[in-house]
Order: sequence, then C-alpha cells, then structure tokens
Amino acid sequence: MSNPPLLDPLLEFFQSVSRTSFSLAVRYALLAGIVSLLAYRIFYRRWKHRKVVRKLPAGSEIRREMIYSASSMLIFAAVGVLTIVLAKEGWTQIYFKRGEYPVAWFWGSVVCAIVIHDTWFYWSHRLMHHRKLFRYFHRVHHLSHNPSPWAAYAFDPAEALVQALIFPLVLVIMPMHPAAFGIFMLWQIIHNILGHTGFEIYPRWLMDSWLGKILNTPTNHAMHHEKLRGNYGLYFNVWDRLMKTNHAEYEKRFREVTGRTKE
Ligand SMILES: [Zn+2]
Ligand SMILES: [Zn+2]
Repeated sequence: MSNPPLLDPLLEFFQSVSRTSFSLAVRYALLAGIVSLLAYRIFYRRWKHRKVVRKLPAGSEIRREMIYSASSMLIFAAVGVLTIVLAKEGWTQIYFKRGEYPVAWFWGSVVCAIVIHDTWFYWSHRLMHHRKLFRYFHRVHHLSHNPSPWAAYAFDPAEALVQALIFPLVLVIMPMHPAAFGIFMLWQIIHNILGHTGFEIYPRWLMDSWLGKILNTPTNHAMHHEKLRGNYGLYFNVWDRLMKTNHAEYEKRFREVTGRTKE
C-alpha cells in the first residue's frame, strides 16, 4: 500500500537525513577512531609529554561525548539535506563545471570558507558563553574539562544547529565547487578532532614567530575547556588577539607544554 501523498516528501526527508547522518557519523568515527588509536594507544608513550592536561579522559566522559556527537550528526545531516534542497531550488552559488570560475578561485573559495567559518565560530561561541544562553546552547560541550577526539561534536542540539548552519550559509554567500566544499569539510573535521585530542602538535618556535599570532593551537582550546573563559577561537588566534580574549596564561602554557622533554 502506498503512503498518503502528503507523507511522501516528509518520508523522503527523513530517509535522506538518516542516510546522510550515517555517512557523516562513519566519517567522523573513522577519523576520531584513528586519531584516538594513534594518540592514546600506539604512540601514547612517545607523545604523552605533549598532552596539555596530563591525565587521560575517563571512559564515562568519552562515552558521553560519543552520544552527544552522534546526536549532533543527526542535526548536521538534517541541515545537509536542507542544503541540497536549497541548491536544487537555486538558492546557493554552488557550481559544477570547473571552468565556470578560475582555478585560483577553487582554492581561494576554500580559504574564504575557512576564514568565514572562523569568524562565525568565534562570535557565535562568545555569544553562547553569555550567561543567559550558555545552558541552552553550550553547556554540554563544556561538560568535557579534559576532552577527547569524541568531544569535537559533543554539542547541545541548539549548538549543533548553530554550528551546522554555517555550511549552507557559505554556499549561499559565495560560489563554491562541490570538491572545494568537500576539502573545506575535511579540513574542519580534522582540525576539530585535533583540537580536542589534547596533544600540542606545533613546535615550540611557533609562539615566537608571526605564525603563532595567527594560528590557533590545541593548547589554546584545551585551556578553553579547562578554564571555561577565554580562548574562543577556532582555526586562527586573530579574533582572540583583536578582542583581547586570549587567556592571560596562554602563551606561557604553550611554552611549558612544548618545552617538556620525553619521559
Ligand atoms: Zn566554549
Ligand atoms: Zn571544544
């Protein structure tokens, strides 16, 4: 028996959401799983002097992070399906023929998407720290004081929606090839996982160079989870420096972590 006509689009929507969330969850689980295996098992002895917070996250914390990350995948998938609907209706500037824009724009669009996302993240993140919004939007993410790679998407549903909306927004405001969008997505997922693994990956000299003033570091985000205030940035440290929101001890802590010797 066929479904009543009104249910069909709804059913189709839920089917696409479940398919998309499954593939998003698989991709995230694969990457977070690989990083966990490398950092917490295979190379733990070799890398442990670079762990910003010395102790390891508890199993119960990791399980909670996994559950909330899975719920975020559902919301990301729903926004993904809505993005496809927007694209079909011609509301986005997505282009499929490479020749439509110069090759330089292919890479330029990836860089622009990263800069736009960084700005969106910094300001939405600061807003979600407002005492009237925090418990509805950002409380779950801060249940992790010593996060693991599984905390990368451990959000309240409202925060997951805020974080996911940037993706259709990028496609609405500028032309982007699907492959460039794919590279941007891969970059954001890898960066987010590394930022939550809690190991400092950059060399000690970074903080003494101009690059250290621009790039954000895992130490910066580990301190955000530890202290709750300060260090709101994502990919870059520029907004935190401009708005003077870096934690006062940030550079000192980076030097301390990167100055440790192997045990
Ligand atoms: Zn926060
Ligand atoms: Zn975080």
